[in-house]
Formats: sequence, C-alpha cells, structure tokens
Amino acid sequence: MASARSETRGAGRFVPCPRHARIAFAMTATTATTATTTDADHTALHAPVIDWFDHHARDLPWRRPEAGAWGVMVSEFMLQQTPVSRVLPVYEEWLKRWPRPADLATEAPGEAVRAWGRLGYPRRALRLHSAAAAIAERHGGEVPTDHHQLLALPGVGEYTAAAVASFAYGQRHAVLDTNVRRVFARAVTGTQYPPNATTAAERKLARTLLPEETATAARWAAATMELGALLCTARTPECGRCPIAELCAWRSAGSPVHEGPPRRTQAYAGTDRQVRGKLLAVLREAVGPVPRPLLDRVWHDPEQRARALGGLVTDGLAERLPDGRYRLPGAD
Ligand code: SF4
Repeated sequence: MASARSETRGAGRFVPCPRHARIAFAMTATTATTATTTDADHTALHAPVIDWFDHHARDLPWRRPEAGAWGVMVSEFMLQQTPVSRVLPVYEEWLKRWPRPADLATEAPGEAVRAWGRLGYPRRALRLHSAAAAIAERHGGEVPTDHHQLLALPGVGEYTAAAVASFAYGQRHAVLDTNVRRVFARAVTGTQYPPNATTAAERKLARTLLPEETATAARWAAATMELGALLCTARTPECGRCPIAELCAWRSAGSPVHEGPPRRTQAYAGTDRQVRGKLLAVLREAVGPVPRPLLDRVWHDPEQRARALGGLVTDGLAERLPDGRYRLPGAD
C-alpha cells in the first residue's frame, strides 16, 4: 500500500551515528538540470542529506531507542495522514497504556478506537489492534524483524513494513511516503510534485537512490523523510536552507510550476466522513451503549446520518446491540 501520509510527519529513530564521510559531489548543477530517473550519480545526494539530518532531525519519541519496534509501528500507523503535532499526545498516552502489543491485544477493539481520539481515519485503530493481536499470537509478542512477516500482519502494507524494518531494525528498504516522494520528484526528477498515486517508476527510483550500505540506507530513509517534512514542503519549500539545493533538478530548472493533473485534495465539511466523525465522537465519549436519538442529534440530514452510521457498523467501528443502542466494538 502506498502511504498517503501527512505532509508534516516525521519518522526514523533518532539514533546518534558517526558522522558520515562526505561523498564528493558527482552531479553538478548543470547535470542536475537534466537529471531523470535513470541517469545522474545519485549517490552525491546521500552525504549532504544525511549530514543535515544528523544536525537537524527532530527529537521525536518514536525515534528514541526506548520506543522499540512497537513504538515505531504505533507511530507509523498514527502518522499516516495525521501531522506530528496531533499524533504526539495520542502516541504518548497509547504507549503508556499499551507498552507492548500483547497489552493492546487483550483489550476490546473499541478501546483502541476510543483511544484513537480525533486522529482521523479510525479504521487505522482497528488495524493496529489486529496487528497487535497477530504479533501476540504468531510472534511471541515481539514485532517481527523479517520484512515478509511484517507484510503479513493485518493492516501492514508495503510502506509500513518497510518503515518498521528500516526505522526500528536498521534494515535496507526503500521507504516511500508522501514527503519522500516529493523530495525525489523535485531533487531528481525535476518536477514540483509527484504523481497523485505512487508509480512503478517512483518505486524504481527509490530503490536506485538507496545507499548500498545497510546502516546508511536506513539513515537515508529517515533523512529524506525529514527533509520533506521540514524543508521541501508541499507549498513553500525552503530551498535556501536545503542541503542539496545545488543538486536539485527542479530548482536548477527554475522551479517550473506543476503542469500535471490537479493535485488531490480531500474535502471534509459536509461529507460522510465528517458525519462519521461526529457519530464516533458520541460513541467514544459515552459511558456505555448510546440510544439512537442521541446519535440523531449530531447531523441534520437523516439520510446521510443513517448512511454514515451504517458505514461505521459495516466497517466494524460501531456495533448495534439487539435493543437498538450503539457502542464501540466490544466495548462495555
Ligand atoms: S532545493 Fe528546494 S525543491 Fe529542491 S529538494 Fe531542496 S527544498 Fe526541495
């Protein structure tokens, strides 16, 4: 699964490492202008990006050694489509309450949905709960180190498996999220934005750009993500502070404006997603099952309200009891 992650997320454990030997720039500004996904000596990008990361990486809790692989996995689920600032308090509470996968696995899925709060896209909470249960059952409670075993966990797609393997276990994987895709699109391909959905060409480029040495590859994955989150942002890239400004194909080409299909934006106001959020908030904050009239108060349109409530039940985010009341799945 290609990750549609928040523009401001950050990942990669904050592990101090020896300063990387600076690699001589092999790609001049001139060659960068004509860089494509197949030419250019991309290794020139490694040292400046990693060196910048060593000095500017945010000290985020999931980057600290004590976070462990479970902390990294929790953060990766939460950071999909949610900014770091909103994730931080929920992450801290989550890890305090469920420091190991087995702790979460023993709880009802509804408790995970409740603790998810307002992070949005609450099916992620159910998937994380399912992953925790599978880890407890199949892997003795330890997040597996093997990439294929990670991929086999419920709710863990291509991105998350690579991110956990790389950030938690220091393995060599191309970790391609929204931020990284944007950095590669600009620095290497010379376009302002990547395509709306991840392409095979982007995956190939990410693999091509991956440093050979395993520890450096893991550092590169975290560093490119941080560069996209902090400097090479979607709307206002800070090229003046960028460690690869001299090598950036898009900048060298005069920062041409995006000419591809319009970038996808996700509406919220008035959508079923908004109604689902309001209904779920009532269920989350209630002590015990909720009568239907209390849910009916959250939205004026009965048809849309019914559709949203039906969707929550279908998705396993809410349960309808025989007496017509509703609750979070399995919650008391
Ligand atoms: S120079 Fe600007 S556009 Fe290019 S990678 Fe750096 S921040 Fe992004």
